Amino acid sequence: MGRRKRRRVRPRPKPQLPTEFECPACIEPSRVPTVQVLIDRKKKVAEIVCSKCGLHETRTIKKLDEPVDVYGDFLDEYYARLEEEEREEEVAA
Ligand SMILES: [Zn+2]
Repeated sequence: MGRRKRRRVRPRPKPQLPTEFECPACIEPSRVPTVQVLIDRKKKVAEIVCSKCGLHETRTIKKLDEPVDVYGDFLDEYYARLEEEEREEEVAA
């Protein structure tokens, strides 16, 4: 019986994708990424959490969405919502 060959498998480092981003809701433009995108692939949801202002959003994600994709979509919607609110205020005034 030969000796069992033991090959150590070294985990290949994953390419680092950013998971922290700037928060659009924080008033101070701190340029510090305070938003974290946490992806739960099993549930197909992503949580967007700001450690500074308490912003918290849950979004459903597509299979291959990376945090950066989730964040991009979130930003689009965030600003679209802001614009809508501003428009409504104008109408009300
Ligand atoms: Zn914030």
